[in-house]
Amino acid sequence: MTVPTNKGLAVITGASSGIGAVYADRFAKRGYDLLLIARDAVGLSEVADRLTAEAGCKVETITADLTVKSELQRVEDRLLSDVRIEVLVNCAGFGATAPLVSSNVDEMDAMIQVNVTALTRLTHAVLAGMLERASGTIINIASIAAIIPESLNGVYGGSKAYVVALTQSLHHEVGEKGIQVQAVCPGATATGFWSRAGLPVTSLPESIVMPVEEMVDAALSGLDQHELVTFPALPQISEWENYNSARMAMIPNLSRSHAADRYK
Ligand code: NAP
Repeated sequence: MTVPTNKGLAVITGASSGIGAVYADRFAKRGYDLLLIARDAVGLSEVADRLTAEAGCKVETITADLTVKSELQRVEDRLLSDVRIEVLVNCAGFGATAPLVSSNVDEMDAMIQVNVTALTRLTHAVLAGMLERASGTIINIASIAAIIPESLNGVYGGSKAYVVALTQSLHHEVGEKGIQVQAVCPGATATGFWSRAGLPVTSLPESIVMPVEEMVDAALSGLDQHELVTFPALPQISEWENYNSARMAMIPNLSRSHAADRYK
């Protein structure tokens, strides 16, 4: 196969399996070298070996548990010192399905550390360099749970709402400085996510589960169309635009010198 000219380095967290592994494949085929991060060294090297052979790119891996402060710091230090980073895909994450009261609170805390803290710190680590070069792309994997916190586990939905909000804010801050940002909100996608979250994917209706390659290719099409927030399954983008317009329409009235009449 013909590999395009090298475009720099794409850093992908959560690249040992599922969505992150497909992003790794797609960015390799788009001509990027890769830096892949996850805990599972075997899974990472399988992805790395395959892509080195198939796409001819350079692939480096870092085995790190992003809930462990020293390991996250090691990844941050690596990202801070690399001027070749053109793309960051914050994909590492996990979910849960139990209600908060019956969840293990340490597991909820770990979820916030991966889905929120690591995503924030790694974004911060690449941002200054990207701004200096006025070039870069940051893709943050959120979820439809961001706008349906009543589905699945609320800490998961809350963490993904954070991802969408941070991405919208980043677009406001750096969108005109050469940095493209995108939040991707997949619906149910056929990966190991579901069994890890306590619900086998086979227990979901087939009609709501998308193959992982189709989901990532749709999200990349959204990126190429410069969408800020991409819902791979949503047929009419106007529905999201209306939702967002309703939010914007409230802005002039959300902060006033007096309480609304209904509270007096
Ligand atoms: P997955 O196959 O379970 O992948 C999750 C990835 O995150 C794995 O590579 C895992 O690697 C990594 N990860 C988890 N905890 C980590 C930690 N403590 N430190 C470092 N890496 C960690 O599931 P997936 O569906 O591809 O999930 C990827 C992202 O998509 C997640 O953010 C998820 O919330 C989001 N998402 C998934 C769906 C879906 O239906 N599948 C829908 C919406 C959004 P190791 O286990 O090797 O560490």
